[in-house]
Amino acid sequence: EGGGNVRVVVRVRAFLQRELAKQTRCLIDMDPITQQTTLLPPDDPDAASGGKQLQPKSRKVYEEKNFTFDNSFWSHDPTDKHYATQSDVYNSLGEEFLDHNFEGYHTCIFAYGQTGSGKSYTMMGTPDQPGLIPRTCEDLFERIDAAHAEDTNIAYSVRVSYFEVYNEHVRDLLVRSDPNKPPNYLKIRESPTEGPYVKDLTEVPVRNIDEILRYMTNGDASRTVASTKMNDTSSRSHAVFTIMLKQIHHDMETDETTERSSRIRLVDLAGSERAKSTEATGARLREGSNINKSLTTLGRVIAALADPKALRAGKRKDVVPYRDSILTWLLKDSLGGNSKTAMIACIAPSDYDETLSTLRYADQAKRIRTRAVVNQDHIS
Ligand code: ADP
Ligand code: MG
Repeated sequence: EGGGNVRVVVRVRAFLQRELAKQTRCLIDMDPITQQTTLLPPDDPDAASGGKQLQPKSRKVYEEKNFTFDNSFWSHDPTDKHYATQSDVYNSLGEEFLDHNFEGYHTCIFAYGQTGSGKSYTMMGTPDQPGLIPRTCEDLFERIDAAHAEDTNIAYSVRVSYFEVYNEHVRDLLVRSDPNKPPNYLKIRESPTEGPYVKDLTEVPVRNIDEILRYMTNGDASRTVASTKMNDTSSRSHAVFTIMLKQIHHDMETDETTERSSRIRLVDLAGSERAKSTEATGARLREGSNINKSLTTLGRVIAALADPKALRAGKRKDVVPYRDSILTWLLKDSLGGNSKTAMIACIAPSDYDETLSTLRYADQAKRIRTRAVVNQDHIS
């Protein structure tokens, strides 16, 4: 019943100070009626690759490209009447996904895009402009409180976990690490019923909005960040925030108790750019190539899922290479299984090459179908 395509939306951010200073031109156009996103060719081909001088032989022809997504969020110009605010993004995506969670479905929303394109702004936001994660938490507890007030035969339990995949290692973001000790990396296990999971990952019960926001903020502060030339506070880690919602309902008339469990996964991926475009060197470069392992595997997983014919034509049964990287292994269910899933492709306004690659990635993700089921059991 929950068979459907991955929902794919795109969001373009405003110019940053440095882009304004360079008087960069916006290469993105969005049509609010058709939800079409257009990528325009740059005036100056050298500027298209982030200002690097290209050798004449590697100069490409830049063309206008059109894409259609489920939503095109225009967050470029705050004075425009079609400007998409943080609450617009929540209202047209987050809210509906939370409806599905209360119906008993697992969901996953992940943000994809180059460093500096607005992934963390969209997922986490700022204290003044909270993003999808804090808005989901707030709405979740508002709904629970409202339901409690109306129906005393329903009980809820909410638990939360937060981890990052950094350099192909899993780190628990809810555990304060001791800087004098080697980091405590967690292992992945696979259960026949639950699929892949992180062994010994902290899962804390939360009773209200303040508690969950405190875990969110503390966890976020523990994320591994490393400076690259592209963005000083860029994060090279994939962060996975998970909320587990359990609803236990007792029907007085039939004396039946049912339990619905759903999982809400909110993922802020590392920057999709190749390590070389940030001129990373040494240790940073090694991290970059490992991070690319999760991202390139994600690309291969998406390509395999987007084209099931190619899968069937293949000789091997297990051609979707989930297990080739930590991230895709852990997100297996969200990518191709029991989950309603959305991808937010975040784009910068004036980087033709990276934006084209992000939009192509997103276009492919549209073809993926997942099969979500209501996770409900009669317990007595
Ligand atoms: P990423 O996580 O993809 O590296 P960030 O979310 O950190 O990118 O965004 C880069 C910068 O752009 C930040 O300063 C952020 O506040 C700003 N920004 C991103 N998206 C928006 C937006 N829609 N509106 C206003 N500022 C934004
Ligand atoms: Mg970020």
